[in-house]
Order: sequence, then structure tokens, then C-alpha cells
Amino acid sequence: TAEDHRPHVVLLASPGAGHLIPMAELARRLADHHGVAATLVTLAGLSDPATDAAVLSSLPASVATAVLPPPADVGGCLMYEVMRRFVPQLRALVVGIGSTTAAIVCDFFGTPALALAAELGVPGYVFFPTSISFISVVRSVVELHDDAAAGEYRDLPDPLVLPGCAPLRHDEIPDGFQDCADPNYAYVLEEGRRYGGADGFLVNSFPEMEPGAAEAFRRDAENGAFPPVYLVGPFVRPNSNEDPDESACLEWLDRQPAGSVVYVSAGVPRRAVRPAKDADESACLEWLDRQPAESVVYVSFGSGGALSVEQTRELAAGLEMSGHNFLWVVRMPSTGRLPYSMGAGHGNPMDFLPEGFVERTSGRGLAVASWAPQVRVLAHPATAEFVSHCGWNSTLESVSSGVPMIAWPLYAEQKMNTVILTEVAGVALRPVARGGDGGVVSREEVAAAVKELMNPGEKGSAVRRRARELQEAAVARAWLPDGASHRALEEVAGKWKNAVHEDR
Ligand code: UDP
Repeated sequence: TAEDHRPHVVLLASPGAGHLIPMAELARRLADHHGVAATLVTLAGLSDPATDAAVLSSLPASVATAVLPPPADVGGCLMYEVMRRFVPQLRALVVGIGSTTAAIVCDFFGTPALALAAELGVPGYVFFPTSISFISVVRSVVELHDDAAAGEYRDLPDPLVLPGCAPLRHDEIPDGFQDCADPNYAYVLEEGRRYGGADGFLVNSFPEMEPGAAEAFRRDAENGAFPPVYLVGPFVRPNSNEDPDESACLEWLDRQPAGSVVYVSAGVPRRAVRPAKDADESACLEWLDRQPAESVVYVSFGSGGALSVEQTRELAAGLEMSGHNFLWVVRMPSTGRLPYSMGAGHGNPMDFLPEGFVERTSGRGLAVASWAPQVRVLAHPATAEFVSHCGWNSTLESVSSGVPMIAWPLYAEQKMNTVILTEVAGVALRPVARGGDGGVVSREEVAAAVKELMNPGEKGSAVRRRARELQEAAVARAWLPDGASHRALEEVAGKWKNAVHEDR
């Protein structure tokens, strides 16, 4: 508002719930705990509007929001290019805020905004909703090409050795970085070259999770070899029993101009519109309430992935064979030949479970379609282990609840996350697929992994112990009011506030 003279931070989220949700949480923390005004900027027309609205509506009134209309010609462009074309509008918004602008924060895709920050003389920061190791991969791409002839692209070495991380085999390198002929590759290189111009990085991770990588960046910041990296995670939405969404929707609407909001609901999956408590979600929690402590295997592959029909059947058979209790979020299988893919099809996923599976496992197993209240499931005392695709949010949620994992990565940077979980943090076991990576994980492997964590042998015991230790570290850092993650963000906010005051 016109009376608000607090230093003002502008946060630009690239499209997609996985980017928007953690950026929204960053904005909320800054506004509620660190004494700055925050405006969260999203881009219209590039992601599911109902999901965006659900996320934005759950923000407190302390965070302002702005939606930038799309430039005319972004159809078919890669995300990096799309973000670049939004910069003129972002400039207009920031110029409109004027001299109280304290910083611009973009994410991995939005680094063209760093040049804008430099031009306007305000600090420019990059927020990483994923691991510190991910920044290392981008740096490796840049280093590799800085010694190469201009315009010539080279693949990353196999294995890729990152400072402080276990070596990554070629297929464990995040998608988009594996093959220099990938159209994303040139953009990644450009992104990475802009990092030196950032004033700092904010990362949704914490040092106990990736100790070697954290230490490497600390040293580089000290030597001036790389901007400072502030570890502000893990962000996990609080586990409250009340459902803030309904009132948040109405409060958000109260802040919009008359006649300005398009309400979208038909045709959008119910979960995307309203990821809050509903009948199915309370059914999951009530079912868990009836299970003994630490008896349940929770199985979920996130919001984007899908197993093949054959892999879905094998997983079902493995859960059945293990003899343990389970809560399985079943997603529509993919129809492709590979054991997994991105994006689930339409239909009823329950139709793809083996004949009689639900009846035979009734009482000890609950299969739910598409979605479960994951943060609450992981925090529930009945939950003992998590079969996970290792998306970074799921990873942090599991770690924050002290739940050991069975790592089942699918795509994006999930295989690298698996290396961090199994080889660095030591909080996960990984079942082996038939014929190696890319093959089907057999029912025997599934059952053996589930049992190893439930009735632990040597490996399982070590993983369970590490999960408890890492949880303690996460809680001490991120959940206590004066924890190190809070202090790291306070340090950054302090710099931003000082910069505004010095300018006056
Ligand atoms: N999630 C959930 N219920 C589900 C599946 C996912 O609440 O049944 C949430 C989960 O808690 C996490 C997010 O969706 O916060 C998934 O993010 P992640 O980075 O783990 O994976 P992605 O979906 O981006 O692959």
C-alpha cells in the first residue's frame, strides 16, 4: 500500500506448483518473520490457474501477489526463454514499487531477472527449491564450457564428480544436463553463467543433509569464488489440524479489485483446486489412527510421475508379499513401454490393481486414488517408512518427520536426490531393478526392501538411525524460532533492509 514504507522484496516464481509452493513459503516467511514487505509474482497462462489460485489463496494477507500477463509470442518456447521475455513487465512492476525495493528474488529459470536487478541497482538473489548439489551440477556445466571453444557443446564427464557429493553416474545427472544436444542444455549454460552476477543464493536444504556440498560452497563464498549460499530449509508446510484454505480463499478474494478474478473449477482435478482436507484425506488419517505405531509403509510417487501398468502390478504384489501394512497413493499408470513416465493418464487408477488385491489386503492395506495429505501422513505415528520418488519436497518432508525411505526415483533430478539420500545422508535404501536402471523392480525386491526397514537387519538399522538423527538436525535448524535456517534468512533480510536505508 502507499503507506507501506518497509523494504520491499519482489519474488518471481517460474510456472509450476513445484516452483510456486516453495517460493510462496519463502515469501510468507520473509513477510511474517523478517520485517520486509513481499510481493510474489506469477506469470499468467503458463500453469494450471486453479492450482496457482489454491497456492496463492493460502498465503497470509502479509504477502502481496501480482500476476503478469503473457507476452504475445511465447508459445512453444522453453521455460528459460519464456522467463526472459517477461523481464520488461517485471521491470515495470519493480519500477512502480520505487525506492523501497530491497531485492529481486528469482528461481532457477528466472535468472534473466538478475540483469534487471543489476540495472536497477538492487540486490538480485536466486532461490533454489531443491538441493545444493543441483547448483553444483550447473556450475560443472559452466566450468566444462569455459575451457571449450565458443559454441561447442560437450557432455558432462561420466561419472560427474561434484565437490562434497558422491560421484554421479551419467544417468543420475538431472534431466536436461545429460546430453549436450538437448535443447535445454544451451539455456542451462546461459543460466549458470549468470550465477556469478547474483548477490546470493537461497536454498531449500540444510547442511546436515548435504554436508560436503554445503562446506564446498561455504569455502567458495569465503574465497570470493562464488556468491554466498544461504541454507534456509527445510521448508515443510506446518502440520496443523485446522484447514486454513476456505477462509484463505475468501480473504484473498477480499484483496482483489471488484470483477477482476476468473474462478476456474470445472474440468480441473479436484485435488489441484483444493489440496485441503476433504473426505478422502480424513479417511487416510482416520485409517492411520487405527494402525499400530510404526507399522505402515506409505507409498507415493509425487504429483507428476506414473509407473507402467506392469510396474504398478509388481509393486502391488510386492506390498502384498511383504505382509506389512501400507497406505498407497495409486496414480493412473502410463501406457508407455518404460517402467515409468512423466504425467499420469486419465481414468480410475484402481482399475489397474491386480484382481482381488484390495479384498486380500483389506484391513492392513489402504489404496487411495491420486492424492493423500502427505505431510500429515508422514508425521503420523503409525507411519514407519516411505516408498518415494524422491522429489525434493517429499524428501524434506520425510526427513523432517524422521521417516526412513525406500528410494524409487523416476525423472528430473530425482536420481541425484537418491544419491544424496542413500550415499550422503544415509536415510534411504534403494531396490534394484531387473536388468539395472530403467528395468522393472520385481515384487521380491519391493517386499525385501520393505521388510529390511520394518524388521531391520544391519543396513535397515543404520538407515533408521540416520533418519532419526537427520530429523533432529532438521527440527533444530528449521522448526525452532532461533534455528540456523531462520537466522540465515534474517541475515539476508538484514542486508536487504540496510541497502534500502543506505540509499536514502
Ligand atoms: N503430495 C501430497 N500428496 C500426494 C502426493 C504429493 O500432498 O499424494 C505433495 C507432497 O507432500 C509434496 C508435493 O506434493 O509437497 C510433491 O512435491 P515433490 O517435490 O516431492 O515432487 P513432484 O510432485 O514435484 O514430483
